[in-house]
Amino acid sequence: MELLTVKDLQKSYPGFALKKVSFSLEEGKIMGFIGRNGAGKTTTLSCLLNLVHPDGGKISFFGLPFTENEWEIKQQIGFVSGGVDYYPRKKLHTITQVTRRFYRDWDDEAYRRYLSLFRLSEEKTPMELSAGMKVKYSLALALSHKARLLLLDEPTSGLDPVSREELLDIFLALTREKGVTILFSTHITSDLEKCADSITYIREGEIPYSGPLKAFLANYRLLRFPEGKTPDAAPGVTGLKREKEGYSALLEAGFPVPAEAEEFPVSLDAIMVHLEANDPLEQEGSL
Ligand code: ATP
Repeated sequence: MELLTVKDLQKSYPGFALKKVSFSLEEGKIMGFIGRNGAGKTTTLSCLLNLVHPDGGKISFFGLPFTENEWEIKQQIGFVSGGVDYYPRKKLHTITQVTRRFYRDWDDEAYRRYLSLFRLSEEKTPMELSAGMKVKYSLALALSHKARLLLLDEPTSGLDPVSREELLDIFLALTREKGVTILFSTHITSDLEKCADSITYIREGEIPYSGPLKAFLANYRLLRFPEGKTPDAAPGVTGLKREKEGYSALLEAGFPVPAEAEEFPVSLDAIMVHLEANDPLEQEGSL
């Protein structure tokens, strides 16, 4: 079942626009939302919950159109975007008391478990929390009302490697054992390799790819061209990049390896870097 369907979502700011963004999310799966700074990830996630008002498009959660079912849908979603910035001087205990009133299915036992797992004291105020602790507190709140879907904007940024691993383990347990669905944006590609089933890749407000992570990786190989051999344009070769020695580029699946190049397996990071690369042969003249 499609738990989230986004169709032709549009939002314009001066100098930036989401251009008919469409993707969908299968129940019980983890989708990574990736793209470079300013590509439109936060804008998209905020539009999904009407925190930013979209200019157009259709969004439905759990098969229900968002606008007509906002309250019911929000009961079933856990949303985290950055840490808690409201009530900086109130104790977490007080903030939780206020937050829990919004949710029909608040699960205090789960909340206590996450507080203890994240080693958070309710006696502290947001002002007294580190950036990573703020994210953990937001996550504890998001995970404590039996949400069926988690929408998380960079939940792992600011977390130390051990906490990050713990959080990814929680994501896997929630999806595999409880059928929860997760969409999270990240710049940390190892997060995705660890737990994402699929990715949605956004570039300058458009979606060049949304689908299984494995299929995305299988689309490309990495090419290396030795120093002194400036590669000519060849079919299927894209994203040429200067390296310490020679050049590298991507080769799309199904195209032959150019005679002067060697091919290697490719990582998600390398695909992103090459797809976003400016052509160095054009750039050299402008430096
Ligand atoms: P990052 O990875 O850096 O968090 P992002 O992919 O989440 O980036 P967004 O925060 O969605 O990117 O920003 C996309 C574009 O929209 C940027 O050019 C940004 O300047 C612009 N933008 C976002 N919010 C506003 C706003 N309230 N008013 C005007 N422009 C905005």
